[in-house]
Amino acid sequence: MLRMFIHQIPSFIPSFFPRFTWSKAADRQIYLTFDDGPTPEITDFVLECLAEYNAKATFFCIGKNVVDNTAIIRRIQSAGHSIGNHTMNHSNAWKMDFTSFIEDVKKCEDVFVQQQIKSIGFRPPYGRITRKMYREMDDIILWSVLTGDYNASLKSDEILEAVIPLLKPGAIVVMHDSVKAFPHLQVILPAILAYCKEHNLVLSAL
Ligand SMILES: [Zn+2]
Repeated sequence: MLRMFIHQIPSFIPSFFPRFTWSKAADRQIYLTFDDGPTPEITDFVLECLAEYNAKATFFCIGKNVVDNTAIIRRIQSAGHSIGNHTMNHSNAWKMDFTSFIEDVKKCEDVFVQQQIKSIGFRPPYGRITRKMYREMDDIILWSVLTGDYNASLKSDEILEAVIPLLKPGAIVVMHDSVKAFPHLQVILPAILAYCKEHNLVLSAL
């Protein structure tokens, strides 16, 4: 059976929403991003891998996970990584009205204020964007490379085969520091870090 997973965002989508951030102009920089944490042990695994390569990255955190894991947040901050808002409860913008969605974004923002976290921007869960979001929200950061690390029907080496050629300067790569993604993450993250080092790509925070 032919399986198909699109790892690269088709270019027409960013052209519909040019004000959102999909990738960045860069000389040697690549931007690794980790969504859905912080998650005990898994986020620490990511932090250890990043430290080993002296790499910086960005974590789009779920507010309720921040509340439950403030010690991990401190470790992310003290390592010099960036943090962004990923809603309080991982809300799906396509399945709720805009007012409720914005309330969930605001709740996460309030947690960030309480925890003295400076947000570098907002990433909508599932990458689900709407016209209203486009009109009314600023600092929305999507991605150019989707690893699909959460997808159990993919194999880790298939993911690497598809993703490695997309690791080019300016790419924003999405992974997940979540329980669901960990089986792939623990394989693909060390490989991605090693590839970037070998090719003099500078892993930077957004
Ligand atoms: Zn998410």
